[in-house]
Amino acid sequence: MALPKIDVPRYPVTIPSTGEEFVMRPYLVKEEKVLLLGMESGDPKQISLAIRNLIINCIEGDVDIDTLASFDVEKLFLELRSISVGEKIQIQTKCQECEHPNSVEIDINDITLKDFDPESAIIKLTDSVGVTMRYPTLDLLGDLDASKLESYDTLMNIVISCINTIFDDENVYDCKKENLKEVQDFVNNLTSDQFKKISTFFNSTPVLEHDLKFVCEKCEHENSYELRGLQSFFT
Ligand SMILES: [Zn+2]
Repeated sequence: MALPKIDVPRYPVTIPSTGEEFVMRPYLVKEEKVLLLGMESGDPKQISLAIRNLIINCIEGDVDIDTLASFDVEKLFLELRSISVGEKIQIQTKCQECEHPNSVEIDINDITLKDFDPESAIIKLTDSVGVTMRYPTLDLLGDLDASKLESYDTLMNIVISCINTIFDDENVYDCKKENLKEVQDFVNNLTSDQFKKISTFFNSTPVLEHDLKFVCEKCEHENSYELRGLQSFFT
């Protein structure tokens, strides 16, 4: 006999960087299992991959997750978790005074994307020439080797893959359609001051943040500090 199937509810979600709206369903037990396995691995690449696949399964409509900014994916994941298992997250965190491990509850609605300023993506290099930038994708960040992050080549590659358009008084050039070599030449021919203007854009990448406040259950110290980035909420 065929058992009854349960209808899954659907919720509206917004992509932070673009404002586009989509519909998402909660993840299912079988999908949660894959996520937990990914998280248990502790490997950031595996975790991003599990999160990415989970969102692709649960979001409806034409959204290309691999082109979204890393913080878009992180925010979508938080919302997905909220509709799937609830708005509260329990984290284990040490008291800053006595190091006693405390279990603290966070409301997902209190986690915000700070520093989000769409205007910062438009960078004027001269009076007439400028670029528009896009934020790094999860994929791009996942491929980065932290030890190489400081190197010139790595920075160069990130900058080039994140230039959306180059514009002057007359034209807007879509870099995805331009020859890569020409985009590289454009960047290589900037003055170091102009290059710096572009690279500081990445300092303004929004991050998931939460002001964590709790009283230690052992020494009653009033802890207050900032959690930053998705991983800090799942420890
Ligand atoms: Zn304490």
